Amino acid sequence: MKVVSRFYCTPNDENIEEEQKKAIDPSKDRTKVIPVETSIRYLQSKAYEETYGGKPVWTLYRRNHKGGFAPRKTRKSCVRGGIISTGNPCPICRDEYLVLDHRNTKLLQQFISEYTGQILDAFHTGICQRKQKELLVAIEKAWDQGNLTYDVPFREYDYSLYNKTTN
Ligand SMILES: [Zn+2]
Repeated sequence: MKVVSRFYCTPNDENIEEEQKKAIDPSKDRTKVIPVETSIRYLQSKAYEETYGGKPVWTLYRRNHKGGFAPRKTRKSCVRGGIISTGNPCPICRDEYLVLDHRNTKLLQQFISEYTGQILDAFHTGICQRKQKELLVAIEKAWDQGNLTYDVPFREYDYSLYNKTTN
């Protein structure tokens, strides 16, 4: 009879955890809190201008999805446990220097329609639901504190169309 000897090794769990922590891509780490002042300076910098070319941050974003049509709702969140959990994060999550705050008006303005003065829908801009919620709070606060003006473009009406003609 053959004797089969088996060796069981018990890996050191602590070492494995440490290795996994080291393996996180630093560009996907979102645990670092970036102050609003840095974000405001970034939006005025040359690096920002070169990256987005003067367009709103969401214009060139396309969400990867299965099939011919995008899902009706955007992602719940792109960040889980402080790390980006998707390969195609939304325009706000992909750039860690874009901070949603009521003082960061240059960023907030990009999410307000220039025609109606209303906040753009998340389906249109592609930003995830968590960031859309933060955006709504920031814009409302900016309107409340007067950082953003609530402008609706002036419309000229031809009132003769509404008035009854007497002939
Ligand atoms: Zn996101």
